[in-house]
Amino acid sequence: MTARLIDGKALAAQLRAALAPRIVALRERGVQPGLAVLLVGDDPASAVYVRNKIKACEDTGIRSVFEHLPAGSSQDALLRKVRALNQDARVHGILVQMPLPKPLDGQAVVEAIAFDKDVDGLHATNAGLTLMGQPHFRSCTPYGVMKMLESIGVDPAGKHAVVIGRSNMVGKPMAMLLLSANATVTLCHSGTKDLASITRQADILVAAAGRRGLVTADMVKPGAVVIDVGTNKTPEGKLAGDVDFEAVKSVAGWISPVPGGVGPMTIAMLLVNTVEAAERAARSQGR
Ligand code: NAD
Repeated sequence: MTARLIDGKALAAQLRAALAPRIVALRERGVQPGLAVLLVGDDPASAVYVRNKIKACEDTGIRSVFEHLPAGSSQDALLRKVRALNQDARVHGILVQMPLPKPLDGQAVVEAIAFDKDVDGLHATNAGLTLMGQPHFRSCTPYGVMKMLESIGVDPAGKHAVVIGRSNMVGKPMAMLLLSANATVTLCHSGTKDLASITRQADILVAAAGRRGLVTADMVKPGAVVIDVGTNKTPEGKLAGDVDFEAVKSVAGWISPVPGGVGPMTIAMLLVNTVEAAERAARSQGR
């Protein structure tokens, strides 16, 4: 069997195009969606991620506000910046690029973001609402994975979904969204014994461990949907996922590539959440 490809790049482009009429409708009500992106320090990978997000905003008609703080910034300075953005009516979404340089406390910064501007879905209130099956903002990467499943007509209901990775940003909210969609979910992590025996039961396998080549062909059930969230660097400096793509594609039914899979979807969902935030703000102002 050769798996069919889940083209995240093409799907992301469709989702972004679908935002255009919503942005026009907001403009007619005197509102331009605005996303503030905060970067602290000079980590080159973070700088690239931030540039990509800002470009995506510009291409889509979302106003971006870029705030760059020096590496040695204090926690207080960062919290002040977040609070000022909370008060700025032109900003509907706030994103703090993670990880923050040590010793800054990333979660404390996220908690300072007004939960209705937390378009990354990382605030404890948003995480809790997702847990309760009543999401306000879904965390962008798992949200993108759910859209990928929808796009290929795979309904998680009744399926066994296995998620590898239990981070607050990806693994846990991924498990919760799949659970809300009525999948039977197994959440695996670095302490899981005999990972392969669990992944082999998966109808839907989401790999989000950040370990290149972790998922090999013998770990995949024939015909399974395999979604690769991992982004790792090869020794040649190329991007690679957690899944051994070449080997797994001959076993899986569907597979997402890296690059061109989950990555573009994460950015698309950030834009979707930002437009949603602007629409809610406009409604609450009676516009
Ligand atoms: P993380 O380091 O916070 O969490 C990794 C998780 O994987 C942990 O819960 C750990 O227990 C688990 N894990 C590690 N090794 C394992 C193993 N051998 N077996 C089973 N579980 C194992 O990372 P994260 O922020 O959740 O990100 C995960 C990966 O996804 C990273 O490669 C990251 O770069 C990538 N990522 C990609 C996107 C995207 O848009 N494509 C977005 C977010 C994260």
